[in-house]
Amino acid sequence: MKLDLFQSKDHKREETFSVSLEELGIEKIDGVEPLGDFTINCRIIRNDDIVRVSGKVTVNANVECARCLDPIEHEWSGSFTVVAKKTKKGESLNDSETSDNDEINYIILKTDENSIELSGFVHDALLLDVPFKIVCGENCRGLCPACGIKLGNEPCDCSSSHADERWQDLKNLLDNNGSKNKN
Ligand SMILES: [Zn+2]
Ligand SMILES: [Zn+2]
Repeated sequence: MKLDLFQSKDHKREETFSVSLEELGIEKIDGVEPLGDFTINCRIIRNDDIVRVSGKVTVNANVECARCLDPIEHEWSGSFTVVAKKTKKGESLNDSETSDNDEINYIILKTDENSIELSGFVHDALLLDVPFKIVCGENCRGLCPACGIKLGNEPCDCSSSHADERWQDLKNLLDNNGSKNKN
């Protein structure tokens, strides 16, 4: 997914791409199922030999509720910023101009380089923001630990008795140990 930075003399322009999870090289993530291709929207601002790309990637996905595992439709999105500077003819690459920054990626392009590869930036932006802690509602009470039924929907009267049984097992175990020690 190459983006040509210098094809247009325009100061400002926008480009939109569509790309699948596989093309982005993202492995399937449990509990997050994209419902189509990812849309990548890039706003490109050019000042002569410096280009700034602000990208946003979005996809509608079915995401499991972190408590009850019900699917929820949720927009999975991420954003990235790349600033690319083209080296002028005869100018040498200055290391101090290349820096790692959490929010902005700086790239120095060779004189004859006109495009940047977007996949890596999109990939990282998405993985920084995987929707793992989404809940179907603040009131979601999750699943009964004993029978697995969704709490709140249907009455679940097993929870107290199941809990009691488990405590009973533990109590029996302790009692047995106690009696063994006595013998
Ligand atoms: Zn839920
Ligand atoms: Zn239950």
